[in-house]
Amino acid sequence: MKRITIILSVLAVLAAGCDRKKEQTKPETPEVSTEKLSGITYQLNVYSFADSDGDGWGDIKGITQHLDYLDALGATALWLSPVQTAASYHGYDVLNYSEINPKLGTEADFKELIEKAREKDIDIYMDYVLNHSGRGEWFQSATSSESSPYRSYYVLSDNPTADVAAGKVDNFAGAKTPGMGNWHVTAGGNLGYKGRLHFKVDMNAKTVTVTETTAAAQSPNTSSPACWLWYGSISKHAGMYTTGPSTYEITLDIDTDWGFLVCTSTSWASGTKWGGDGSSISFGQPFKLNNSTAADITFGGESTWYFASFDQSMPDLNYGPYASASESAAFKDLANSADKWINMGVNGLRLDAVLWIYQNQAAANASFLKQWYDRCNTTYKARGGQGDLYMVGEAWEETSKIASYYRGLPSLFNFSYWWTLKDRINKGKGNDFAKTVLWFREQYKPFRADFIDAIKLSNHDEDRAGNDLGKDQAKMKLAGAVLLTSPGKPFIYQGEELGYWGTKAGGDEYIRTPVKWTRSGSVPSKSLGGKIDNVMLTSEISVEAQEASATSVLSTYRAFAKARNSYKALAKGEMKEVSSSKNALALWTMSYEGQTVLVAHNFSSSITSFSADPYKVSDTIVSNGMVSTNGSTVNLGPYASAVFIQ
Ligand code: MG
Repeated sequence: MKRITIILSVLAVLAAGCDRKKEQTKPETPEVSTEKLSGITYQLNVYSFADSDGDGWGDIKGITQHLDYLDALGATALWLSPVQTAASYHGYDVLNYSEINPKLGTEADFKELIEKAREKDIDIYMDYVLNHSGRGEWFQSATSSESSPYRSYYVLSDNPTADVAAGKVDNFAGAKTPGMGNWHVTAGGNLGYKGRLHFKVDMNAKTVTVTETTAAAQSPNTSSPACWLWYGSISKHAGMYTTGPSTYEITLDIDTDWGFLVCTSTSWASGTKWGGDGSSISFGQPFKLNNSTAADITFGGESTWYFASFDQSMPDLNYGPYASASESAAFKDLANSADKWINMGVNGLRLDAVLWIYQNQAAANASFLKQWYDRCNTTYKARGGQGDLYMVGEAWEETSKIASYYRGLPSLFNFSYWWTLKDRINKGKGNDFAKTVLWFREQYKPFRADFIDAIKLSNHDEDRAGNDLGKDQAKMKLAGAVLLTSPGKPFIYQGEELGYWGTKAGGDEYIRTPVKWTRSGSVPSKSLGGKIDNVMLTSEISVEAQEASATSVLSTYRAFAKARNSYKALAKGEMKEVSSSKNALALWTMSYEGQTVLVAHNFSSSITSFSADPYKVSDTIVSNGMVSTNGSTVNLGPYASAVFIQ
């Protein structure tokens, strides 16, 4: 189907070209392509991009209605936030991998999107959450019966400490402690407690002794306690009183359905969390604490535990020993679901949290990912897909630490790219940027010759690029211009092209803000629980207003995207650093099949000049900010960019 579309569009271009020849006297520039040459991908949050039916949720039809916008941004692919039925608005706790989330639309809507997008040469990439699922029917079944067909889908244990020590937890792939995450009790059994208890923590002996009592309950200690009890709802903490050297006590009325934990802080990120080994306390008996398994401490009965790398609402999936993961029931089930979407016309997958499929074990994860990729690509090829299926992994780590994941996947997000870029723009230092990008690429080469470096600024899990750049529009335009002139496959995150800002401090919703399409129109806010930054969403930041301004962030993104799609050297070129004595200046060339362009960015707030010789400075392909030339000398104003052709 894709091939037919391309042939048709080539015919259309040829036909259009014939018409133009009749009308125009000036010959067409041979270097300029009328096809989209590059792989610009737009990352969008389906729930907040565009709402077609006014129910306060962005939806699939909303995307279809705005394909012109995405086309004008040069997109050749869309990475959609998870569209399968899920428990929460963001979709990363999938309940049914084979079903479209009714809040976002129907399967017919999804098919229509794939078809309409294809008419504009835009591929659809699905977000595939393989590390964990939501607590849906699979999980309920798996944890309610030992004979459940889904029992093997999750990382379950009756005694986590013993099983981890014995190497029986396949998910850990030999690791003795998880890289992150926790063991949680499954539902059922007498795990919680409601009533008055006395707690005594002895950090010398690393024990807690819990006693039922009728003594008066105390209010929690609020004077900088060194030890806290966690119990009940997720935010319930009580400060304990110091009653001796490293000894802490409190008498408390508690109501908890999962047990309790001991922590040195109200935040596990900044404190040390102490739990048990998976067994329950006996009243009046010292209970041994540990901070490696740190399982919830329960009040009675036999318990079965499940492991979750992230929140307890997202139990990790279990694929068995990594070398034979593709033979596991969970793998087969998820692959069958992926087949359905690939056969429907999906041309790529973005894989969530690939570091944690096997607890930060690179060799195990790469092995798993290769099995997953090969399975999906086989389906894609059987469908008649062009080339190979695109698949990109989210391995959220420094480039040098995750390069070996290229053994398993054709593409990985390059988080270090943005961490470096924001650092350099904020320092006004550009002259080592090309060298750094080339160094990233060198890290990948040993593991895959044809790696696809998925470069990006921020994404839906990070503070906004705009925020990292001090909400400075000139810096945001520069960041976009750098992204769209760098080698690799650039991803533009929803709102970045509009100069949005936002941090996670008030909730992740604030980095997932809806697109404001018109000056006066509303945005879908129900999916985000009303957590919308209306101070940012002024009429002037709307698409309508920015389309009317040639110097807006949006117009800058469009101009650089168009250049990238039109010049093969920018789209596919090999990068070469051009050394510069100017600290602020990032200078490099991009070359492909005889075409070379010179890329220049000023990372500072002062004017920077350089000689562009031997490039034809009269031929500026695209520029941003103040750019002037005098002979072969180029003057770049604050945060300005220019691309010249040789
Ligand atoms: Mg809607």
